[in-house]
Amino acid sequence: MLTAEKIKQYAKACGADLVGIGSMDRFEGAPLQMDPRYIMPEGKSIIGLGFRIHRGLLRGIEEGTFFAGYPAMGYANINDVYAPMVLREVGNLLEDEGYEALLYQNTSVRLGSGAGQAVSPDKPRPDVFLHFRIAGFICGMGEIGWSKVFLTPQFGPRQRLAFILTDAPLEPDPLFEGGLCDRCMSCVRECPAGAISETKSVKVTVAGRELEWNALDTYKCGIVFQTGAPQYGPFLTDEAKAVVQDVIDGVPEKETKIGQTYPGGVNAYVREQVAFTKRTWDSYHHPGAMDGARGCIRACMMHLESRGVLENKFHNKFRQRKPWSLGGLPDGAAGEEPDKEA
Ligand code: SF4
Repeated sequence: MLTAEKIKQYAKACGADLVGIGSMDRFEGAPLQMDPRYIMPEGKSIIGLGFRIHRGLLRGIEEGTFFAGYPAMGYANINDVYAPMVLREVGNLLEDEGYEALLYQNTSVRLGSGAGQAVSPDKPRPDVFLHFRIAGFICGMGEIGWSKVFLTPQFGPRQRLAFILTDAPLEPDPLFEGGLCDRCMSCVRECPAGAISETKSVKVTVAGRELEWNALDTYKCGIVFQTGAPQYGPFLTDEAKAVVQDVIDGVPEKETKIGQTYPGGVNAYVREQVAFTKRTWDSYHHPGAMDGARGCIRACMMHLESRGVLENKFHNKFRQRKPWSLGGLPDGAAGEEPDKEA
């Protein structure tokens, strides 16, 4: 008999670091375009799989000497190679038992949510988008931090998620009780884009719980996470630094030369003209992620490790030295000092 426990053991044996199970009725109230019950109307359960981002993959960016590893092995490889293989194995187990397995990996929706035409008036437009962080919460795997990054008790902000929708009725895990994010605002202070708001938030109700995260400036984040800020971007040309600085300074895209003249605007410019991230898009269809998630992953991880609340513990603290910078920073913005408590 197929049980939740059997699924979890098998998924871990296949290579998942984390597994959680939620019931599909926890999506009640989700917006039409984000309600996976329209993808699988007979679905009973959602299985969440988590894959750690190795802390060592952030080391090269922390030291300023190796930027290629994180986007390749900590981003594209997990999303497009490793997680899909584990999804497939777990899906095989489900379908061998006569239950459908809809495998939903991180980069499935390439054209965006609802890019297509609705096939009938009572259905959302394809593709329906699964909000991964809310789905992770529904599977009882963790919580959404103030940064909007998903946090788990095992790895804090260091994992990527993938999901299976199934009509198998599986015992759901309880919702995570919370408490990892203590609103320390390290993510706000260390985000070099200034994309994470300290005061403005978004609130949603999921499975009877109110979730809240910052009102992220997705334009700033969407550019700077790819390139790093000028002072943290050793691969940026002077022109690219000026483009990125305009983004950070909040200059409306339409008022910039690139926004007015480059087809596709600043985002296309970054993908096509910033050599590092062009190469990563060409090679493995993911952004360069040269910022190394300075605020939302690295700073958050250091804070959670210093509180001793994560299960994945290390012999050495992550930040060992004063953070590097190429200069030109305002006072106090060079990154937080090594953590004395860790
Ligand atoms: S750094 Fe992490 S723990 Fe601190 S506010 Fe941001 S998300 Fe919460």
